[in-house]
Amino acid sequence: MPVEPISLASSVDAAIEIVLPRAREVGVTIRFDPAPDAPMIAVNAVRIEQVFINLLLNAVDATAALGNTAIAVSISQNEDRAVMAIHDSGPGIPDEIAEKITEPFFTTKTTGEGLGLGLSISRAILEDYDGTLAFAPARGGGTLTTVSLPLMGARA
Ligand code: ADP
Ligand code: MG
Repeated sequence: MPVEPISLASSVDAAIEIVLPRAREVGVTIRFDPAPDAPMIAVNAVRIEQVFINLLLNAVDATAALGNTAIAVSISQNEDRAVMAIHDSGPGIPDEIAEKITEPFFTTKTTGEGLGLGLSISRAILEDYDGTLAFAPARGGGTLTTVSLPLMGARA
């Protein structure tokens, strides 16, 4: 799939647009503060949007599972990397499963909604673009999900 110059902000915007109806359904709002400097990345637009959709859906699911109502998305630039972060108010990721969550078919969802493929697909897509995917406990509870990608022109 073709790699093209993409504004990280518009890619995240497009992903949020797709996830919004689902978020509304479960009572979760998505706050997005685009950075003043608009990082550009060299990726396939459809594939990278799929990554953001998967991560946003997980954040919405986790937040709704605790009966909380908001997730916050931010983007930034860090030396030669573009960074997207999602702060959710879910239960967090227990240490015992942290190693497994990106394996294909790993899911803790019992409703039949979780195929357990979102993170494995996301990880594979990000690997293609020298991207990284990380999860950390968020301040105030929940999870901080972070994606970093090389800025356009900075790829090794
Ligand atoms: P699925 O969403 O279909 O379960 P994923 O690959 O997207 O599959 O995620 C795998 C598992 O990782 C989830 O079932 C959940 O246990 C855990 N997980 C992912 N993101 C989060 C998050 N933001 N908060 C808590 N747990 C998460
Ligand atoms: Mg998922």
